[in-house]
Amino acid sequence: MNKPTQSVDAHSIMFITQRPELVMVEGQGSWLTDNNGKRYLDFLQGWAVNCLGHGNSGMIEALNAQAKKLINPSPAFYNEPMILLANLLTDNSCFNKVFFANSGAEANEGAIKLARKWGQTNKSGAFEIITFDHSFHGRTIATMSASGKPGWDTMFAPQVPGFPKADLNDLDSVKKLVTDKTVAVMVEPVQGEGGVIPASAEFMTSLRKFTKENNILLIVDEVQAGCGRTGTLFAYQHYSIEPDIMTLGKGIGGGVPLAALMATDAVACFVPGDQGGTYNGNPLMTAVGISVIEQLLAPGFLDSVKAKGQLLRSELLAISEEFGLEGERGEGLLRALILNKDIGSKLVDLARERSPEGLLINSPRPNLLRFMPALNVSADEIAQMCKILRELLKQVS
Ligand SMILES: *Cc1c(COP(=O)(O)O)cnc(C)c1O
Repeated sequence: MNKPTQSVDAHSIMFITQRPELVMVEGQGSWLTDNNGKRYLDFLQGWAVNCLGHGNSGMIEALNAQAKKLINPSPAFYNEPMILLANLLTDNSCFNKVFFANSGAEANEGAIKLARKWGQTNKSGAFEIITFDHSFHGRTIATMSASGKPGWDTMFAPQVPGFPKADLNDLDSVKKLVTDKTVAVMVEPVQGEGGVIPASAEFMTSLRKFTKENNILLIVDEVQAGCGRTGTLFAYQHYSIEPDIMTLGKGIGGGVPLAALMATDAVACFVPGDQGGTYNGNPLMTAVGISVIEQLLAPGFLDSVKAKGQLLRSELLAISEEFGLEGERGEGLLRALILNKDIGSKLVDLARERSPEGLLINSPRPNLLRFMPALNVSADEIAQMCKILRELLKQVS
């Protein structure tokens, strides 16, 4: 018997994108439930945000306890969770200082400002930041200008100047863009929105060497690839390099709006008036961040992310063989399956519409499916996802 589906009256929601006619109402672990009671196996997890899945009890406890204690002392004062989380992040990275933000774009704005400030103070006003084709750094005007998304250069013209674009994994293309105005290179260790394209170890180590020798800062945008997503706490740790600046977002809050700008002592050169924000470092969000980072650092957790990344990788490779597709790529639990036709968005729709249970995946390029499950996804849920994927690929072939 089919229950009548509830219609969605969303006429007051400003149109920014086509959304399916359903409302998500509940989540637990790797599963979401909509307003009709239908369940979805969630391999989107809020766009690689809910690193501990839906309804994580540690996060909920931290949120409740902090809400009862203190929500907003104002950014003019220190608060306890802000200090604790900053220490946790510096103790477990090569960075010494943290500025908290509310979104990845805002953290990247801060990184751009910090690099330009450093250029004013230390490098005769150098301000250009070399970024990469197909990179994604956010949706503010400056971070859109920094991004290498096709079409974004004219979308809200004029852009913020000073972001020449190089090619990922091609050091010569970086060298060609360097001038006496170059202050930094900003790179995603794995390009996420660009189609899950990892920077090679050789590129990252030679880029670090080159930038160091030429007094150029290295900024890693780990908004998507950081916080355990690739199997190490931070993605730069795969390469045994030490960047000057790092930004975090998405996973650091496990679903709540929290982001961070981190820098070494040598680079953290803001003076009063340069940087701030009403909600920055608020105890409610930083308390959740502590719970998230502590869970990621629990013994064995990151090893299990690596193991599940390997499992997902071998399953996707098997599917690719079976259906004559073009392989897979990624790092840890940020992976993509490369299709042989531009049917990504069709598969995304079929997966969501499937019954009785739907599957949530995404297609950052027409010939690509991206998987960003919770980092505590079970082997059984990976198997269920692959079973559904096989069923859908049969359906379209
Ligand atoms: C999502 C993302 C951003 C933007 O983060 P928001 O929180 O959406 O502002 C920036 N950089 C990368 C690499 C991202 O994946």
